[in-house]
Amino acid sequence: MSSHPRAGAIRASTMSTDTIESKKSHSTAAVLKNACRACGKACSQSWFGAAAGGVVRTSTNDVYHQDCFRCHVCSNLIRSGESYMNVGDRNNRQYIHPGCFACIGCKRAIGVGTEYTKDSSDNEEGSYYCIPCHSELFRPRCTICTRTLDQYFLRHPYFDSEVYCLEHDNESRRSCFACNRKEPLPAARKALFVDLLDGRSLCVDCSSTIIVDSSEAAELFRGVIQFMESQLGMSIPEYMRQVPVLVVDYKSLNESISAEGNTALGHHGASGSAGAGTVRGVTLSSCCQVRHIPSGFSLWSRLTTGRPLTSAAAAPSDCDFSSVYHKVDMDEQREVSAVLVLFGLPRDLIASILAHEAMHVWLKLNPRVPFRMTPKVEEGLCQAVSYFYLESLSLTEAAAGNDVEQNMRKYYQHQISTDTSVVYGDGFRTVQHVTSVLGLRIVLEHLEACGELPVT
Ligand SMILES: [Zn+2]
Ligand SMILES: [Zn+2]
Ligand SMILES: [Zn+2]
Ligand SMILES: [Zn+2]
Ligand SMILES: [Zn+2]
Ligand SMILES: [Zn+2]
Repeated sequence: MSSHPRAGAIRASTMSTDTIESKKSHSTAAVLKNACRACGKACSQSWFGAAAGGVVRTSTNDVYHQDCFRCHVCSNLIRSGESYMNVGDRNNRQYIHPGCFACIGCKRAIGVGTEYTKDSSDNEEGSYYCIPCHSELFRPRCTICTRTLDQYFLRHPYFDSEVYCLEHDNESRRSCFACNRKEPLPAARKALFVDLLDGRSLCVDCSSTIIVDSSEAAELFRGVIQFMESQLGMSIPEYMRQVPVLVVDYKSLNESISAEGNTALGHHGASGSAGAGTVRGVTLSSCCQVRHIPSGFSLWSRLTTGRPLTSAAAAPSDCDFSSVYHKVDMDEQREVSAVLVLFGLPRDLIASILAHEAMHVWLKLNPRVPFRMTPKVEEGLCQAVSYFYLESLSLTEAAAGNDVEQNMRKYYQHQISTDTSVVYGDGFRTVQHVTSVLGLRIVLEHLEACGELPVT
C-alpha cells in the first residue's frame, strides 16, 4: 500500500472556538441577522437572556449559541477555546471533537493531519474512513481468490465486475467456454463450474439455458428462419426449412470439418473469447455421414460429469458419447447437407451461432448470390445476421428473459462487434456500416445484382 494521497482523500485539520463573540465587540443589529444553525433561533435570545450569553462564529462563518455548539459525534458541548474539526460540505457541515472523529472501520480516531475519506456510496452520517480501512473495504477484490487487488490487475473485457490478480493469468484455471469468466476458488463461496464431457467447462449462468440435443437446436433454427423472413424481409429458399440441424460434440464438429469431401464453413469463436479460434458451428455443403445427439437425449446428467453444481466430485467413467450417437446419411446431391452446432452452449449463444449458419445456408441456396464470395464479405454478412438476431431477441418481450440473459446477449453482441480478426471482425463492421446506411434489403439486392457489397 502506498502512502500517497489518493482521490477523495482529505487531510484532517482543526480549528478552535476562538471566535466567541461578546456584546461588547459587535453591534446587536449585526448579530440579529444570524440564526443559530442548531436551534434556528436568533442568537440574540441567548445574547440577552442567558448568563453564559456567548455566540460562536466558526471559521466557516456558521453561527451557534454557545450552548448549542455541540460535537456531531458525542453531542457534548465544544467549549470556548476548545479545538474542533470541521467536516463535510457547506450543506452538511459537522463540527466534531478531534478525539471523536474516528474511522468507521477501525474505530480509531483520525488524528489531525491524517488522511481520511468518505465513501460516496454510503450516505450514513459520519461514515468516514481512514485510508487503510477504506482501501481494505472498498478496493476491488479478486473474483477468483477474494484478495483485495493491487494497482495492477486483470479485468474481463466485458464483465466489469470480473477482476483478477495478475497471477491467475498463468494458472491452468477453468474458464467458461461461453463467457470466458474464470472459475472462482472455494474461498469465494460461489458455485463451481460444470464440466462437459468433451473437456469444456461452463459457469453456472451459462449452463442454466444449455442446449443439448438436435431437436432443440432445430427449433431455434426455425426461429432464426422466421426472423430472416419476417423481420429482415428475406425470401427463404424452400429447402432451407428442411436442412438438418444437428447438435454435435467438439470432436465430431472438428472431424466433420477436416473429413475428406466435406465443404465446411466453420464459424469460429470471436477472438478474445473462450472459443477463440475454435469452431462452434458449421454449415456442411457436402457430407456423407455425421454422428449427432438425437432428440430425447437431453438428460443433463449424462452430458455433464454428473456432479452437482456445487460439488467437485469426480466424473463417473461410464458416460460415453458413442452409446447415444445416431448416424445420419447425407444426400450428397444437396448443396447444403447440414448445419452442425456444438452441444452444451447457452440457448441464446446457440441461437446466434445458428443465425450465422443460417446466413451461410441462405447464401449457398440462393442462386442469385455468387457461389464464391470473399470470406470477409460472406462471414461479415453471417456475423451481421447473428448480431441482428441477438438484438431482436432482446427487443422481443417474450424472449427478453431475465437480466442475466439480457446481459449475456449484449456480451455475445460485444464479442461480434469487437472481434479483431479481419474476416469476422472487419467483415462484420463493414457490413454493419453499409446496412446502417442502406438497410440490409438493399445491401442483399446489390449483392445479387453485382456480386459484391455496395460501397457507401
Ligand atoms: Zn441555538
Ligand atoms: Zn465529541
Ligand atoms: Zn480505520
Ligand atoms: Zn486472486
Ligand atoms: Zn459462462
Ligand atoms: Zn461462418
